[in-house]
Amino acid sequence: MTETINPQEQVEETEQHEQPAAGSVRELPLVPLRETVIFPEMIVPLQVGRDKSVQALNQAVADSSPIVLVTQRQADLEDVTEPADLYSVGTLAKIAQVVQLQDGTVRAIVQGQQRVKLVDFVATDPFIQARIEMVEEQPASGLEVQALVRTVQGQIEQYVQSGAPVPPEAAVAARNITEPGLLADMVAYSPDMSTEQRQELLETIDVHERLKLVSSFLGRQIEILELKGKIQSEVKSEMDKTQREYILREQLKAIQRELGEDDPQQAEISELRDKVEQAGMPEEIKARAIKEVERMSRIPSASPEVGVIRTYVDWLVGLPWNVTTEDNLDLKEAARILDEDHYGLEKVKERILEYLAVRSLADKIRSPILAFVGPPGVGKTSLGKSVARAMGRKFVRMSLGGIHDEAEIRGHRRTYIGALPGRVIQNIKTAGTNNPVFMLDEVDKIGMDFRGDPSSALLEVLDPEQNNTFQDNYLEVPFDLSKVLFIATGNLLDPIPPALRDRMEVIQLPGYTQQEKIEIGKRFLISKQMENHGLTAKNIQITDEAMVELVQAYTKEAGVRNLEREIANIMRKTARTVAEGRKRKTIIDVKKLEELLGAPRYEYGELEAEDQTGAATGLVVTEVGGDVVSVEVTRMPGKEDFILTGQLGEVMRESARAGLSWIRAHSDELGIEREAFEKSTLHIHVPAGGIPKDGPSAGITMALAMVSAYTGIPVRKDVAMTGEITLRGRVLPIGGLKSKILAAHLAGAKTVILPMKNQKDLTDIPEEIRKKMKLVLVSSMDQVLEHGLVRLPKRLEVKPAEVVEKGEPIEDTTPGAPDKIRRGFPGAEQPPAIASGGDSPRKRDVIEAAIALTLIGDISPITGDH
Ligand code: ADP
Repeated sequence: MTETINPQEQVEETEQHEQPAAGSVRELPLVPLRETVIFPEMIVPLQVGRDKSVQALNQAVADSSPIVLVTQRQADLEDVTEPADLYSVGTLAKIAQVVQLQDGTVRAIVQGQQRVKLVDFVATDPFIQARIEMVEEQPASGLEVQALVRTVQGQIEQYVQSGAPVPPEAAVAARNITEPGLLADMVAYSPDMSTEQRQELLETIDVHERLKLVSSFLGRQIEILELKGKIQSEVKSEMDKTQREYILREQLKAIQRELGEDDPQQAEISELRDKVEQAGMPEEIKARAIKEVERMSRIPSASPEVGVIRTYVDWLVGLPWNVTTEDNLDLKEAARILDEDHYGLEKVKERILEYLAVRSLADKIRSPILAFVGPPGVGKTSLGKSVARAMGRKFVRMSLGGIHDEAEIRGHRRTYIGALPGRVIQNIKTAGTNNPVFMLDEVDKIGMDFRGDPSSALLEVLDPEQNNTFQDNYLEVPFDLSKVLFIATGNLLDPIPPALRDRMEVIQLPGYTQQEKIEIGKRFLISKQMENHGLTAKNIQITDEAMVELVQAYTKEAGVRNLEREIANIMRKTARTVAEGRKRKTIIDVKKLEELLGAPRYEYGELEAEDQTGAATGLVVTEVGGDVVSVEVTRMPGKEDFILTGQLGEVMRESARAGLSWIRAHSDELGIEREAFEKSTLHIHVPAGGIPKDGPSAGITMALAMVSAYTGIPVRKDVAMTGEITLRGRVLPIGGLKSKILAAHLAGAKTVILPMKNQKDLTDIPEEIRKKMKLVLVSSMDQVLEHGLVRLPKRLEVKPAEVVEKGEPIEDTTPGAPDKIRRGFPGAEQPPAIASGGDSPRKRDVIEAAIALTLIGDISPITGDH
């Protein structure tokens, strides 16, 4: 019996009683187990606390006998009194070790040996002595068992791999167990098995059945584990995703906190909304802005659209919809300020004050736009600033020079990337008020090409009919520009587009005389530059002589811009010596001036040094003010009547032709042989060839130079002239008189020949110049010759006269009688006398003149009132 069921010697030796064989009945101490089920071959530590159990263990140890371990049906039952309290099948176990613990409990290590059936209790006191019956295990074999063994082994492996709560070696151990019953029992180690399931397993004596039982248990467990794995991995991936987002969001928040922008988009949206509320926009524009803000709040903050909307709303909010400065319309104060800032310019100031007066009387009146026209440095900008100061308005300026694209003025549509409002709206924003003085510089330099016509956009800005609802492409909402005071500036009047010029009240600033420049320098520029360079009257003084020298020898201009620059130059150099420690005052005299600025650059007076034949001095107006030009004519053999060089325009070409025709028509009076026209060509040249020149005002100059070239009589060197010529030798008025006279004066001319019809403009000419120069008013070409040539030409000897039909009688042509010769010219108001007789030289002249007329294709000069 024990041999078969208890191979271990120790147990064998301890056997005292007669050991019943398998199936036999024995009486042994019994320990009831609360929640464990012990299987054969299982080695387990057993904690025993109940008194009866301790005594049973002790007895077994004392008897060196095995012990019976049976599981209670109810785990919490304290005192087991009858076999029914226990399951019917238990395990016979060998005690390997017993340790008495201090609290009176005993810890034993036991090893299961064999299944036993509980038959009865023999005694229950002081411990349970039970009668048991050995259960013999039938060896199992056969294909089915083998298959089951394999299945279970595989299942155990799978079970372990699926993450069963058992050590991974369990799978290896299972492979090595060949005994089918033992293999099945091994599954009881699984913590997944409940006490009831274990008990069931213990009670299943038939190995075949037992294998099936564990197989189904394992199958189920694997399923559960896999499901669990699946659920877990799903949950995990879900968790991972949310976890990741959560962490990122937290990080984002931390960054934003660091940057001081908690929940930026919301904060921004509410901030924008507040700004819109406070911007004082007209209702419909406010509604528009709010709509944009709402749209922004619906777009994810990462979208680039958000930035676009924000910029747009910022623009709307930033504009001075209802910020208006109060106008100061005290004209006395305005006059005081204009005088304080500017020397001279009496007429200009007067016109500005008149303009302001009208505005103050009728605020709503649509006054035209002021336009200051004149060369650089004459004070256009500074006058504009003074107007702003006098009225208490803000001042902004914008240059139109070189603008080709309409969008510069009116902005780009928002669909363009990086679109912005046009420069008008940008400047209004800079001004911060809706009624600044707005200076539009260089209106004469506006361009026009395929990108649109900026001048038409500008019209919308300037036109009082339209500018109260000025539409900027970017803003998309109208802005009221009607309160803005626009002042345009330009160097020349002619290039300003006519539609714009129509809406302007032009105020000309032609330039200053030397005396005026000296005064401006002394009164304004020196003190201004002194202040700019941190100098005081203790550091520097510029003598009057030095000032005169500065104006005459170091600058040549209509305005005072270069003068100011040279003064700044002097100040800078002096400031440096002061910074380097110079304590004494620096006196700038003529000598010191040369030391600081180098040798004088300009010589006063640029007219010819000698009287010249075939050269005359004309007067022109350019962008930088009036100037003198020399017209040169030379005569050479050739068939053409003349050639023109020096980049002369069409108008100049025509006046040259008119002049020549007049000369040919009057060749007799001028003492020019007809052959001269037939055999020689005139070359007319106006130097400074790089600059295109055009305009009618050089007419008399060219005619005079031609007469001089034909007759060989020199032109007086100190005479300058300007005037348009007609075919009949009349002299017509010209523009820009003051600029021209100033230039002639600067160049050192003693006499200026001007059209009679410009007489009214002479009031503009400063007294000091009128005193120094002889201004000769002429109405016909013969008067020009009289004052321009060194002497008058001698009339040709006329062949015996034939019948004179009309015109004045042919005068006595005695050579050397100038007054008579002059009377020989046809009166300007009447056509040249026409002598009858087919071959008369006079008649031929007239015919030639008529041919010339048709050649130039412009007959208006003789049919008009000239
Ligand atoms: P513009 O705009 O005509 O080119 P600015 O207004 O810039 O000329 O004038 C150039 C400089 O000359 C400025 O410093 C200006 O104050 C000064 N200036 C021009 N004219 C006068 C004047 N009549 N009185 C005082 N300063 C003047």
